[in-house]
Amino acid sequence: MSDDLENMMNQFDIPDEVMDKIQKNIEEIITNFPIPEDNKLDVIKKINFMYSHTKHLSMTDALTGLYNRRYFDTTVEREFLRSKRYHSDLTIAIIDIDFFKKINDTYGHLCGDYILKEVAYLIMDNFRKTDIVFRYGGEEFVALLTETSAQNSRIPLERLRKTIESYKFTYENKEINLTVSIGAAQNNFDGTTEFLNEADKALYEAKNTGRNRIIINEK
Ligand code: GH3
Ligand code: MG
Ligand code: MG
Repeated sequence: MSDDLENMMNQFDIPDEVMDKIQKNIEEIITNFPIPEDNKLDVIKKINFMYSHTKHLSMTDALTGLYNRRYFDTTVEREFLRSKRYHSDLTIAIIDIDFFKKINDTYGHLCGDYILKEVAYLIMDNFRKTDIVFRYGGEEFVALLTETSAQNSRIPLERLRKTIESYKFTYENKEINLTVSIGAAQNNFDGTTEFLNEADKALYEAKNTGRNRIIINEK
């Protein structure tokens, strides 16, 4: 698939109902379409590949390869319900790059994009395989830390903060330093809206008290 098409597909939110319809149609095509017996397996494989590729694109962000906002919305709901049902800890952390606009203004948008990719990689690399990382918006990322209390999230979050603070981003031979602010909250709330809001409030506090820091909402 061409990069252009891939970018275009990534800008669309493909709702779950549509994905379900596509899958139903595929089943119908496979059942009813007179595919020559010799090619049947190849055609089915190709259709299945196209379906999973489209599904993958609908869940991920083109620039960083992380899960996207749309996938976050369904995942946070599922993980939140799971944590409530099994009485397990779940912590949400919002990670926001400090003064990112300045990077774009000083070094240009392409440099900004390069930084976003690097930061995405550092975040991915920092957490456990069982944690789930998303690009939530422009220069904001979210991590869902499963089986982790807010208190215990401090260790990986502090490690991430330090890693980014000391990482030397290099773009066109220029060395760039940056920091992130992080707000986190635990699943001690009735719904995902409040859960996310409390982490957002913590992030806001981290920004207002000097940036390059972690505020954990211990409520
Ligand atoms: P703060 O420390 O308060 O978070 O300041 P900030 O500059 O990081 O925050 P602000 O919300 O003012 O600006 C975010 C910037 O992120 C604005 C926009 O230029 C940039 N941005 C968002 N998405 C992208 C992207 O996909 N690529 C690039 N290069 N820049 C982006
Ligand atoms: Mg920012
Ligand atoms: Mg922001």
